[in-house]
Amino acid sequence: TIGDNLARTVARYGDRDALVDVPSGRRWTYRELDAAVDELARGLLGRGIAAGDRVGIWSPNCAEWTLLQYATAKVGAVLVNVNPAYRSHELAYVVKQSGMRMLVSAIAHKTSDYRGMVEEVRGDCPELGEVVYIGEGSWQDLVGAGSSVGPEALAARMAGLGADDPINIQYTSGTTGFPKGATLSHHNILNNGMFVGELVGYTEADRVCLPVPFYHCFGMVMGNLAATSHGACMVIPAPSFDPAATLKAVEAERCTSLYGVPTMFIAELGLADFGSYDLSSLRTGIMAGSPCPVEVMKRVIAEMHMSEVAICYGMTETSPVSTMTRVDDDLARRTETVGRVMPHLEVKVVDPVTGRTVPRREPGELCTRGYSVMLGYWEQADKTAEAIDAARWMHTGDLATMDDAGYLSIVGRIKDMVIRGGENVYPREIEEFLYTHPAIADVQVIGVPDAKYGEELMAWVVMKPGHDPLTAEGVREFCSGQLAHYKIPRYVHVVDGFPMTVTGKIRKVEMRAQAVEILG
Ligand code: ATP
Ligand code: MG
Repeated sequence: TIGDNLARTVARYGDRDALVDVPSGRRWTYRELDAAVDELARGLLGRGIAAGDRVGIWSPNCAEWTLLQYATAKVGAVLVNVNPAYRSHELAYVVKQSGMRMLVSAIAHKTSDYRGMVEEVRGDCPELGEVVYIGEGSWQDLVGAGSSVGPEALAARMAGLGADDPINIQYTSGTTGFPKGATLSHHNILNNGMFVGELVGYTEADRVCLPVPFYHCFGMVMGNLAATSHGACMVIPAPSFDPAATLKAVEAERCTSLYGVPTMFIAELGLADFGSYDLSSLRTGIMAGSPCPVEVMKRVIAEMHMSEVAICYGMTETSPVSTMTRVDDDLARRTETVGRVMPHLEVKVVDPVTGRTVPRREPGELCTRGYSVMLGYWEQADKTAEAIDAARWMHTGDLATMDDAGYLSIVGRIKDMVIRGGENVYPREIEEFLYTHPAIADVQVIGVPDAKYGEELMAWVVMKPGHDPLTAEGVREFCSGQLAHYKIPRYVHVVDGFPMTVTGKIRKVEMRAQAVEILG
């Protein structure tokens, strides 16, 4: 279990740094972290939290998030990650959907009045027995509730837990629709975190900078569990993503590894004072979560000192990582593909209609199987059955190709594929090409309804500073002779940014809705 694994790390690396919370200046060694986790775990026992009870966490990144992650794992409670961007009606939905018994919440952050929203919905959620606010008396009371609970009670609870018990409900990002609660076990996420850490070569000397949200598997599995299972240190640069604070934390804490979705790296590289940060301590890192543009990967390797940076591909439902690039892959594969299958997992690419495996290099739906596949969607057996087939293959909804050596490339999501005049168009390919335009900082391509062709292509572009807005004409000129005519965007829309999920993913569903309005 996760508790047993933490104990092993404490025994080996007890005096090494475990966690640094940069905004508050607090830091813990592994021995101190374990003591703080135990104190909190005994507090949960003191409050009568039973194995299997759902305990929610609704907060931007902070040290308490991590303490609660390990404390709930030790007492066998199911941690329910609540997206910090939610508003009250979404909160009420997950509280009820998960049957949450206790909620640990932040008080407020930026424009989010968490306490106000909790109090607003609390009356409608009779099952929610207790709410604890981080940084306030009720948190101290929870920790204090363990003073009457002996360490043997915690040891007895831990001894009764099974590795296949559900330990976590992680709601998916909600990129394509309403989030679904993937239910995951110790075995699912601990193994995935451990293998991710192994493949990026973590040791107790590593310091991992985590600007990615903990509520998402990128933070809590690929970040926290990958670090703690190898004795590396977790560094929290800021409560929510802030490019300058991230690079400052890398410099001040001499981080060796940095995580981000592509848009985070783009923001860091685009800082006016980018060149003034000392990033020489960096060695590796992970880019994941959305298509990783080749140009961005190349700049991260060349300009951020991250010569060993890896790309991971995965989804919440698979704990999350299914494929990953390795340090010894050649540069082209390390920047252009999502690598090969992870140890102890299987992948295949199938025709979404017939279910048959397609020939190499042809696009199809990516399916994965093995220890990482979730137990199921929480109390949504119908949705689980749609996603996981009888042979336990998880159908990802992503389109991929596999080359002869087993390297996978993500071509797009099935839902984002554009069918223009009967031709399948993968927006990813066009985006990659437009990234090479000297005036384009960021770009996304979507399909919009069209009377003649069924769908037409529209490019949303963010201009680099000092460049005039691109027109449809300009884009057409740039593409002609380079892309087939049916892949050239008909419409161009210049924007400052894209509608995004809090995990930093671009919400193409929202872009399509806005495009319909814009085009009238
Ligand atoms: P929802 O399922 O609620 O619509 P979501 O699929 O974005 O949201 P996550 O589980 O956070 O929720 O994200 C998994 C998805 O992210 C994958 O299915 C894939 O589409 C995309 N993804 C992850 N890593 C990569 C990558 N390296 N390259 C391309 N796409 C990626
Ligand atoms: Mg998904």
